[in-house]
This record gives sequence, C-alpha cells and structure tokens, in this order.
Amino acid sequence: MEPMPFQTAESRVAELRAELNQYAHEYYVQDQPSVEDFVYDKKYQELVEIETEYPDLITPESPTQRVGGKVLEGFEKVVHDIPLYSLNDVFSKEELIAFDERVKKAVGHSVSYCVELKIDGLSISLKYENGIFVQGATRGDGSVGENITENLKTVKSIPIRLKEPLSIEVRGECYMPKSSFVNLNQQREEEGKDVFANPRNAAAGSLRQLDTRIAAKRNLSTFLYTLADFGPLESTTQDHALNEMARLGFRTNPEHRVCETIEEVWEYIEKFHETRNQLPYEIDGIVIKVNEFSVQDDLGFTVKAPRWATAYKFPPEEAQTTLVAIDWTIGRTGVLTPTAIMEPVRLAGTTVGRASLHNSDYIEKKDIRLKDTILVYKAGDIIPEVAQVILEKRPADSEPYPVPTRCPVCESELVHLDEEVALRCINPKCPAQIKEGLSHFVSRNAMNIDGLGPRVLAQMFDKGLVSDVADLYALDKEQLLTLDKIKDKSAENILQAIDASRENSVERLIFGLGIRHVGAKAAGILAEHFGSLTALSKAEKEEIVSLNTMGETIADSVVTYFENEEVHELMQELEDRGVNLAYKGIRASQLENVESPFKDKTIVLTGKLVEYTREDAKEKIQNLGGKVTGSVSKKTDIVVAGEEAGSKLTKAQGLGIEVWDEQQMIQAIEESHQE
Ligand SMILES: [Zn+2]
Repeated sequence: MEPMPFQTAESRVAELRAELNQYAHEYYVQDQPSVEDFVYDKKYQELVEIETEYPDLITPESPTQRVGGKVLEGFEKVVHDIPLYSLNDVFSKEELIAFDERVKKAVGHSVSYCVELKIDGLSISLKYENGIFVQGATRGDGSVGENITENLKTVKSIPIRLKEPLSIEVRGECYMPKSSFVNLNQQREEEGKDVFANPRNAAAGSLRQLDTRIAAKRNLSTFLYTLADFGPLESTTQDHALNEMARLGFRTNPEHRVCETIEEVWEYIEKFHETRNQLPYEIDGIVIKVNEFSVQDDLGFTVKAPRWATAYKFPPEEAQTTLVAIDWTIGRTGVLTPTAIMEPVRLAGTTVGRASLHNSDYIEKKDIRLKDTILVYKAGDIIPEVAQVILEKRPADSEPYPVPTRCPVCESELVHLDEEVALRCINPKCPAQIKEGLSHFVSRNAMNIDGLGPRVLAQMFDKGLVSDVADLYALDKEQLLTLDKIKDKSAENILQAIDASRENSVERLIFGLGIRHVGAKAAGILAEHFGSLTALSKAEKEEIVSLNTMGETIADSVVTYFENEEVHELMQELEDRGVNLAYKGIRASQLENVESPFKDKTIVLTGKLVEYTREDAKEKIQNLGGKVTGSVSKKTDIVVAGEEAGSKLTKAQGLGIEVWDEQQMIQAIEESHQE
C-alpha cells in the first residue's frame, strides 16, 4: 500500500477516532450498538495501521490505547482532594423510617429522595482536565487510594474524552457483569486456575493487575453516580447531576428514581429486592440520598458519614444445608471438576441441590467433608457455590475427604500441571474427554447438529460407532438404529442434520474442533482472515498475532494444534467425507456490494419459524447486511413474527414498528442479491 501523506493520515485518524469513540459509546455506555462488530473492527484495524505508520499521531485518547500493554511496577498512592465518604447502613423498614424522621426533624420539612441501585463493585474516582481523563483511583481508605489510571483506561465505558472540555471529578462503581464473571470462572476452571469468589473480587482483582492487558480482557463496566468536583457545572439535585454525567458521556444507571415519600422509597426497595436476580449485574442494596443539594448541605456529615444518605442492605442470599456427596466429572480438556450434592435447600427464590466446589484444591483448602453442614451462597442467577463449612456442626465421626488420584472414567493417574490448582486427566484417549469433545462439536455455536445429545453421543462412542468427530460423517441408518430409543424417524432426522452440517462455513468447524483458547468469536476472525481450514493449518504465529484481538496465547495454541500429525489426518478424513473446509460467511469488504431490504436495518426475530431455524435466519440476514438483535426498541426497523409470537410482537405494534411474517422474510431473502 502506498503510504498516505502525513496530512491525509492526520485527518483520517481524527475521523476514525471520532467514529470509533461514537460506536464505543453506543455499545458500552448506551447498550445500543448501531453497527456490527466487524464494522468497528475494520475501522479499528485501519487506525492501527495508520498509527503504526505515523507513531507521532498516537495520542493517549486514541481508542487503540485502550487495549492495555503497559506493565506497571506498582500502584502509586493518590490523595483524594475531596475524601470519599462511606454510608451508614440500614437493614429494615423501621430503620429506614427512622432515617427519614431524623432528616425531616433536622430540616423542618419533608424532603424528596433520589434512590439508586447499590452496585456491588469497586468504588472509583475519575478526574478530568479540560475534558480529558487524567487520573483514576481506587477508594482506598477514603482519603488515600491507589492510582489505577492505566487499568481504568482499558474499561471501555469510561470516556477518555468528555463531550465538553470540562475539569471535573466523578465517582462511581467499576464492576464485572454477571455473564463475564461466569465465563471468566469457567475459563479459569478449565485452565486449572483459582476461581474468583464473586464478581466484586473479580473486578477488584482485574483492576489491580500490573499487566494492563489483563484488565483490558476482563470486560469490566462502570456506573458513575457522584459528581464530586462540579467544575463549572451547575446542578441543584442528585437526579440532575446524574443526567448531567450521562450527557457528558458517562454510563449512569438507568434505574434511579426520585421519590417524594419514604413509602415510595420502600416500594422501590421491595421491587428490586424481588427482581435483582434478573439484573445483568450484582447489587447488594439500595442507596437513598436526599435529592436537593442545598438540603444535603444543611444536613452535613457526622464524623463517619453523611447525614443525608443511607444504604439499605439486602439480606445475604445464603443458606445452610448438608453435603451428601461429591460428584466428579472430567471436562473436554481433562480438568476434573467436583460438584457438591446437597440436601435440597431454598436459595434466592429457587430450590438447589447442587453447588460448585470449583476444584480439588478448594475442597482441601476449605477442608470440606461429607455430612458437613455447609453454607451455600448464590448471587443472582450465578451458579450456587459452597462458601464454607460450619465447623461447630461437624459430626464427631467426620473424616477428611479423600480427593481422587485417578480419573473416575479411564482410571489414569491425575496430575497437577504447572501451577494449576485443578487436577487433570492427561490421557488423550480418555473416553470422558472424547465424549465431551463430541458434545462440543455438535453444539449450537459449533456444527449445530440437532438430535445428538450427550447420551446419544456417549452410546455411539461406547458401541464403537464413533471415536472421533470425523466418524460422525460416516454413520449410517442401520448403525443409528442399534442405539436405545432411536427409531426410524429420529435416525433419519439425525442423518439429515449431520448432512446439513457438511455445508457449514468453516468458522463453525474451527470452533467445534475445540482448539484451546479458540472461542466462537476468535474462530470467526480466523476463518474470515485465512479463508479455509487448510490455510489456517499452515498459518505462522506472527500472522495470527497481527489480527485484531488475537493474543499470543491463541496464536501459540493454534500453531501447536496443527503441528500434530493426527490433526492433519482428521482434516483429511473430514474433507474426504464431504465436510466443507472453506469460509462461506460474507467478508466485511464484500458487504458493500450487497443489495437487500435488510441492509443497515435492525431486525428482531420472534415466535416460532417454520421453514428456517432462528440461527439460519439470523445468519442469512446478517450476510445480507442486516443486524439481528434480541429485544425490541425504538431502534428496531423490522420485527419478523413467527407463530405464537408474544410480548415482542405486542411491543413492536405499540411502537409502530414494521412487522413481517416468515413468508415476507423468506421472500426478501430470496430477492436479495450480492455482487
Ligand atoms: Zn480420564
């Protein structure tokens, strides 16, 4: 490529940054992306290329500086000019009413309150000078915290540049969404590492990483709720200050309300006490602040806390029960995972009988034994886990639990690899691992083969019909009919599903092979870049690392995977049996030539489709330039309503959004064409 003149580069860089910052704001702050990921990725890549050519153009506010990369020596201390206060807690309606009485008595009239969710994360303070993010710090003891600016720069909901060039200081909470927490712990379990006890610890641990690249990968988010230093801003109420912060580009929590009476406050508390499990992040209570700043000033502070605010704390969601047994399973990568089998107990609105014990070290460290009374903890919809043993209730005849030394399935000796806390079965022929691998291969985001549940696959393996994933493509009907509960019709369906999967675009196969560290998203990027499995198998590490979002770990893992001779035999077998090894999805560059009614439109699929599966329809629409999202909003252009469509259809009709039936969608797909 011809190098572009400096001035062209300079203006292009400014343009790209403005666009990328806007996309990031829509995605991370407003939760309403307007473009597909690949549009972002493509522009981001272009910016990286120009910045590589002209390093002088790199500024701290460039989106490329958010991936981390600096390795810090330690964290400097930061003295807070305005100390961070802590709140007095209340635990009951009576205490809340007493708080309200005290406030009213002190000021001599009734007051309105701004109520907010109490996000269970890590308190942070952010300083801006002339609109640029210059310092981020932890709360510390309230007076002195730690400088974590570099790590906070990787948190994408924190604006690097405000919408106005103001010098202000804001405060809020940095947290890890529940889904990220579950994924992170799952990944850590697979990798044999220690797991985090809860999302708050995971967020705190991520922000205290000296290697900022680690923080960048942790998918943290923020809610800001305090304007500590107003700068030139004028605000007379907490509610207004929240809106001002949102206007400047900060992410603020949309659930805040102004309540005129303490009864209204209580209703708000009850509502979120009941529905908190459905929130995508954890909250541990409700914060109640006097809304008017002038009244706050009148009330002032005690030695410890403001008189104008309090925190209502939810009772913890934990319960005691008895440990009946420990169930051990072997995962796809050989990791041995224990699950507690308990006397069923009510916890956070559901009855639970199983809880996570993470790994064998966890059992030893906490000295968890059979028949122990255990404390089980569940945060929101996160998998319950065993928090601790109630030692006072331990039976007299109790004995330490003997952790297995051999694989419960193949009986090979289990090992601790490197520094791992998990035990692993490292026998590559371990049936448990192969069965898990087969299940992964047929799963929805991989080859998407219906009708092959874990039990069917296990039978196929045990009967010797299938020993690796290529064998699935050599199955015939007679073989299927030898399996339990498989009749004529279901055998045909299975064969049809297997056959259809031959045509999948190769990213599904790449993901399905279960190469370590290669998730569905990475598989998509690799497929698009290399174009085929064959090309990927010959890829150099450097080329993989050069791709956006691909780290050394993934690159190493891919290269090592394809060094294995057996992998090439497997690829050959797949090819011989008619499995497609090429990328069929549409490349970003080709999308510009697409003409279709879906192009640049946001589409929601709801109800039951007859001729297409949801997944297929989604893929087709995306390939035709449309964006498929899960929920109906004002930004939705078309709702495709299948049979028995419910609330989404009602909502679409209420918003006056165009509604299509399945036939209209099919017709539109057929009429679309690509160059
Ligand atoms: Zn084994």
